[in-house]
Amino acid sequence: MNIIGNIGNFHRKRIINMMKYRVEDLADRLMAGEALSREEYAFLIDCRTPETEAALAKEAAARRESIYGKKIFARGLIEISNCCRNDCYYCGIRRSNGRCERYRLMPEEILSCAVEGYELGFRTFVLQGGEDDYFTDEILCPLIRTLKERFPDCAVTLSLGERNRESYRRLFDAGADRYLLRHETASEAHYKKLHPAEMSFENRMRCLWDLKETGFQAGCGFMVGSPHQTSRELSEDLAFIAEFKPDMCGIGPFIPHRDTPFASEPAGTVGLTCFLLSVIRLIHPPVLLPATTALATLDPRGREKGILSGANVVMPNLSPENVRSKYDLYDHKAFTGMESARCLADLSGRMREIGCELAVDRGDVRKEV
Ligand code: SAH
Repeated sequence: MNIIGNIGNFHRKRIINMMKYRVEDLADRLMAGEALSREEYAFLIDCRTPETEAALAKEAAARRESIYGKKIFARGLIEISNCCRNDCYYCGIRRSNGRCERYRLMPEEILSCAVEGYELGFRTFVLQGGEDDYFTDEILCPLIRTLKERFPDCAVTLSLGERNRESYRRLFDAGADRYLLRHETASEAHYKKLHPAEMSFENRMRCLWDLKETGFQAGCGFMVGSPHQTSRELSEDLAFIAEFKPDMCGIGPFIPHRDTPFASEPAGTVGLTCFLLSVIRLIHPPVLLPATTALATLDPRGREKGILSGANVVMPNLSPENVRSKYDLYDHKAFTGMESARCLADLSGRMREIGCELAVDRGDVRKEV
């Protein structure tokens, strides 16, 4: 019997494999709360249809609402430094980029961003930056303590890259609540294609487990459409999320930066990013899931599309206006020329338009569902 003709073994295997599942069945199982195998996630990604995208988005938004109501949490993002010792091939602030105009905020400047943010109503501050040797524990711990003393009702989130276990412990003891460290890819072979040999997949994963064990609300994440990524790598990411159960998960499309080795690689898509947001919400319903700046960069309605697919966090920029354009991770990064107050009012209107409500409270992860 040869119903598919003489098309060679490779294609024959692919077609037989494609007949193994029905994408609707996989979507139904995901919506029923079942975890899928890696092979099934990859099939779901490859064979998704506009109907499955819409069905999963609807269910993801409903799951979000059953846990968090209509609230979309706003976090004030303070980009504290674009100095970085690492050389990730995708990132515009990588050490080898001689064209990057470097800056670093001093602790007093970070505090004044927080003061401004607090007045606007923000109750979470996210301190993000390159891996800058200036920000030792000796600098960061007093800063975190001051922030927590001045704003005891606020959460402090750090996103400062890989550090050792003792450092994470000290930052946590100083009062930091959450830590974001995207795993970038859960495939070791793929990790090696995105990073120079001096960086290690094993260490990145170790950091994530250390963060969790230290007591942080921990966030992982990855870029969608990064070079050499296929549905196979994405299926590894989804399986990792199912295992790690992050409190937060940051995903956004890869966008090339002109001064990096990946300058001429194509960007990821809004469609696949939104689909994956829905899948992640369904894999781990309580996760805090941002509709990222990268999504807003590719599409002026990217944030809204992300929320409608199941995201529930937005992170407007609180960095001083004169440094915003310098935290240049990828080309055309959406950095609103608007001052933070107007940006917040604008966001709040946009959220209302899609039936949600912008909430500035701490918005901790709900552990019980
Ligand atoms: N140094 C910190 C913060 C990195 S910047 C850390 O290592 O965690 C935050 C995220 O921006 C990165 O984790 C990466 O996933 C994303 N990013 C970097 N370059 C990008 C690009 N070209 N396109 C899209 N996202 C990018």
